[in-house]
Amino acid sequence: MANKPQILQVAVPSPLFRCFDYRAPEAAVAQAGMRVIIPFGKRRVVGVVLEIRDRTDVPPARLKSAIALPDAAPVLDSGLMQLLDWAAGYYHHPIGEALSTALPALLRKPETPPDASRQRWRLTGAGREQAPDTLRRAARQAEVLTELAPHPQGLPREALPAPRAVLTRLEQKGWIESFEASDTALPPAHALLTNPHQLNPAQQQAVEHITASTGHFDAFLLEGVTGSGKTEVYLQAITPLLEAGRQVLVLVPEIGLTPQLVERFSTRFAADIAVLHSGLNDRERLDAWRAAASGRAGIVIGTRSAIFTPMAQPGLIIVDEEHDASLKQQDGFRYSARDLAVWRARQLDIPVILGSATPSLESLFNVQQGRYRRLHLPERAGRAAAPPLKILDLRGQPMRSLLSAALLEAMRQHLDRNGQVLLFLNRRGFAPVLLCHSCGWIAECRRCDARMTLHRHSGELRCHHCGSQRRAETVCPGCGNDNLLAVGEGTERIEQALQGYFPDETILRIDRDTTRRKGSLETALARAQSGKARILLGTQMLAKGHHFPNVTLASILDADQGLFSADFRASERMAQLIVQVAGRAGRADKPGEVVIQTHYPEHPLLHQLIAGGYPAFAEAALQERREALLPPFASLALLRAEATRADHPRDFLQQARELAEPLCAGKVQLWGPVADPMERRAGRYRAQLMVQAGKRADLQRLLAEWIPLLEKEKSARKVRWSIDVDPVDTY
Ligand code: ADP
Ligand code: ZN
Ligand code: ZN
Repeated sequence: MANKPQILQVAVPSPLFRCFDYRAPEAAVAQAGMRVIIPFGKRRVVGVVLEIRDRTDVPPARLKSAIALPDAAPVLDSGLMQLLDWAAGYYHHPIGEALSTALPALLRKPETPPDASRQRWRLTGAGREQAPDTLRRAARQAEVLTELAPHPQGLPREALPAPRAVLTRLEQKGWIESFEASDTALPPAHALLTNPHQLNPAQQQAVEHITASTGHFDAFLLEGVTGSGKTEVYLQAITPLLEAGRQVLVLVPEIGLTPQLVERFSTRFAADIAVLHSGLNDRERLDAWRAAASGRAGIVIGTRSAIFTPMAQPGLIIVDEEHDASLKQQDGFRYSARDLAVWRARQLDIPVILGSATPSLESLFNVQQGRYRRLHLPERAGRAAAPPLKILDLRGQPMRSLLSAALLEAMRQHLDRNGQVLLFLNRRGFAPVLLCHSCGWIAECRRCDARMTLHRHSGELRCHHCGSQRRAETVCPGCGNDNLLAVGEGTERIEQALQGYFPDETILRIDRDTTRRKGSLETALARAQSGKARILLGTQMLAKGHHFPNVTLASILDADQGLFSADFRASERMAQLIVQVAGRAGRADKPGEVVIQTHYPEHPLLHQLIAGGYPAFAEAALQERREALLPPFASLALLRAEATRADHPRDFLQQARELAEPLCAGKVQLWGPVADPMERRAGRYRAQLMVQAGKRADLQRLLAEWIPLLEKEKSARKVRWSIDVDPVDTY
């Protein structure tokens, strides 16, 4: 009997909800999780082997052969394969694209560069026999030999004091050689470099609970007011794990938060830290990924997609700022890195910590349900005291550019006492509206239902929704007058006004416009931390998670921005933002103060926050969600559609609704279709249909039956559509 061919079931990066069968290449041993190079249409692409079978339904004449299996071992271990398989199912995303999202870009290409980070140099037998004075006239070569002599297991390139040409010369002489180190030759280092703080009792208790869970699954919500020493809890919970040779994965919502965290981890531990975020080039990302996969990196720190990093010795997962919306991917494979972190920890049977000063309502609810354990840090660590929140009623206040007289006065006082001031405004650019004072013309985006933001410094109008830009008009295109007014405030305008009020101060503006260049955000944050700039002004980037010891006054310039919004999560976000900004003040020895400017001082959200802090707000908000049957008391999914014609998305969603209705069985509700509040964006019209169910399982059942119908639906061909399960933005 002839040997049956091996059939590989391959996940291919494509928008199709299916896998493809290929004949295994001869003389190769396939394993699930391996990359495989295959012919796909006219291209060669990299897929991932899902399963190996001995039969297929594809007729032999049509069955293609895979080209090659480029790796000796799987790039994704079985645990990650299960995680991705589960996530692709839960978020209803094609498995091929999900797997491809998980891989670093260089591994998605057929030609993968060798692992430079594992390359080592060592002396050959001939090299060891060289007497030092043979090289008296080639000092640099001699230096390399001396350096390598005590290291029979080799040294990495960076450890050698010579340029590449010198190594090549020695290699040609046959005195040194390079080789790829096996991972066992490189035990992770993890000595303690600095002494930890003496923990306060609440911190101590948190660390003890976490440590007691070593080696099995437990989900902790570490709820600690800003500055309560959550990071210190992470550090001390990690210490015994590193000592035991285990790895720790730390997720942060924003790339801007990584330098600070890396700094704190690297001053505490002599461990290899692998950092994974969008600011890396492909090469750096691959190296970090491999360092994590091999177990070489004791600590892995990264943004969202780092949840898919393989680890040889996982011991703990930490999700810092777990409430942050950036942990949810908002396009393509729309996964929640926080929720997947909990899933992965359960599967690995290790603990997971979700940390926040302002936990998401979902996580608070999970605590109430007994699914997560709450660890509470009610007070600031060390000597710092939490600053009081003050409402500044803007009605009738004299002010220019959102800087009220009362705020300016407070700023002067804090600066006089040598404090730093942090001002928050969630709007970059100079002014959100450019308007003709003669005829009322307004500069609008040609591709969106939106106004252009004036960026005066560059003389441009930019659309913050689609990114299009043009030179700002100087005369009105409507009436020809040159009477154009910039209306409203962005950070650029506030910066200019501040320069007028505080000519002797260094003002540091941190927003997307000032931090475009690689490394510029780090530089700016370092300047803020050092206290060189005393007035800090910025958007979200500046507000979240940073530790500026010398800031004593923090102000939210325009709280009204978030008080009225169509999104049911808007108030939760606003409350979190206010508490986070407030948390930047008074973090060290000097007492802090927080000023919230608003035209609506009676707003209940502000009242709850002032009177009872975030917990009081959260309790009231959870009650409202319960009554409205909104998450976490219900499950949601959004079907979004967009097209260049306005009627196509609406037609498709109407069809989609009709297809869903018979599947709802009274357990699932459909809302819409409705057009987006901003219907046209980047030249495409957008609409959505919301699906709501009291039980997650009912929602999942409906989606599983519905999506195959949508794929066959004729009107679907005229639109781009997507499913978002557990959406964080609902409009
Ligand atoms: P969080 O992460 O909760 O915002 P951090 O861990 O950044 O808080 O701690 C805030 C500040 O308090 C840091 O400067 C940190 O070094 C300090 N700190 C933390 N724990 C202690 C402690 N037990 N004793 C003294 N200082 C502490
Ligand atoms: Zn005009
Ligand atoms: Zn636009």
